[in-house]
Amino acid sequence: MAKKKAAKKAAAPEYATKKLCSQPQPIVQTFDPGVSEARAGFILSNNKKWVNGTDIKYMFIEGAKAQCDVVRQSFKDWKALGIGLTFTEVTNVEESMVRIGFDQTDGSWSYVGRDVLTIARPNRTMNFGWDLTTTYGKTTALHEIGHTLGFQHEHQSPFAGISWNTDAVIAEFSGPPNNWSVSSIQSNILSKLSPNGLNGSQWDPASIMEYEFGPGLILAPAPYQQGIFPPGVLSPQDIAGVRSIYPPIKPATITKLSVLQSVPIAALSGGQADFTFTPTISRKYTIQTFGEMDTVMVISEQVKKQVIHLAGDDDSGTDKNARIRLPLVKGRTYLINVRVLFSSAQNSGGIVVV
Ligand SMILES: [Zn+2]
Repeated sequence: MAKKKAAKKAAAPEYATKKLCSQPQPIVQTFDPGVSEARAGFILSNNKKWVNGTDIKYMFIEGAKAQCDVVRQSFKDWKALGIGLTFTEVTNVEESMVRIGFDQTDGSWSYVGRDVLTIARPNRTMNFGWDLTTTYGKTTALHEIGHTLGFQHEHQSPFAGISWNTDAVIAEFSGPPNNWSVSSIQSNILSKLSPNGLNGSQWDPASIMEYEFGPGLILAPAPYQQGIFPPGVLSPQDIAGVRSIYPPIKPATITKLSVLQSVPIAALSGGQADFTFTPTISRKYTIQTFGEMDTVMVISEQVKKQVIHLAGDDDSGTDKNARIRLPLVKGRTYLINVRVLFSSAQNSGGIVVV
C-alpha cells in the first residue's frame, strides 16, 4: 500500500491532499407500515430541509475569537444570498439548535439539515478540526454550514457517475493527513447517496459541497482522472439551490387564519405554506394540518426583531397529522410555517385552528 502511494505522489509532486470533512452517520427515518415507496421517497427528499423562515440559533461551545469570526462571517455569506432562513448567535445552550466545537482531534463535520435537532444538548452538531483563518479554513466553514442547511456531498451524488480507483482512494485517505478508517472512506467518498434528499439532479463539481481530489483517484468521467479542484466558494448552482429551497418569504404569500376556518394547502411535496394567526381571546388553541399530507409545522412569534420558536411537529411517515396545542395570547400575532414533505395532490390537505 505504501509503495503504491509513493509512486502516485512521485507522479504528482505538486499535489498534497487536504484534510477533508468527515461526516457522522446520518439519522435514518423510519416509516409506518403501509407508507408507499413513492411517499417515503418524497419524505426522504425533503425531511432534512428546515422549515423556511426558521431562525437557526447557533452557539459556540468553545473556540478562539478569530476562529469563531470565520464561522460568523460564513453564516452571513449564506444569508447574504437572500434566503428565508435567518441565523442568530446565542450563548444559552437551551436556546441553541446548532452547537459548534473546535476539537482539533475530531476533524471537521456537521449533521445534515434538521438532523441537528435530534442531537441532544449540549452535544456538538458541528466541529472544526483545523485552523479556519486560512483560505481553505473559510471554504471549510462555508461547507459545514452547507451541511447544516441540508446539503450533502456532491462527489457522492449518483448523478456524478464517478467511478473510483478504490484501492488508490483507500490508500490515499487512510494515510495522512486524514488517517480515516476504511468505513469512513466508504461513507464519505465511495458510497453513493440516494437520489432522494439531493438538491437537483445534476452534479456540480464546482460546489462548495464537493471535495478536492488529486490525480489518480477517479477512473471516470475521464476529464477528472487528473483530479477535481473546486474553487472553494459558493458556486452558481449552490446559490440557485439554496435560494430555491429557502426563498425569501413575501408578506403577500402569507395567509391569515381564523378559528374554525380551514384553509387548503396548495404547496406540493417540498413546498411550503405560511400563515399568521392573531387570537381575539387568550386561551389554549390547537393548530393542525389535515388530509393526505406529510408536514412539518412550526409555530413562532416575532417579538421585536427576534423570532421566538414556540413549538414544532413532524408527522411524516405516519398516519397522523401535524398538531400543536398551546396557550396563545390575545392580540399577539403568531407565525405558522408548514413545510410539505409529501402531498398526494394540490389542495389534498389543509390547516385549521380550533
Ligand atoms: Zn462535508
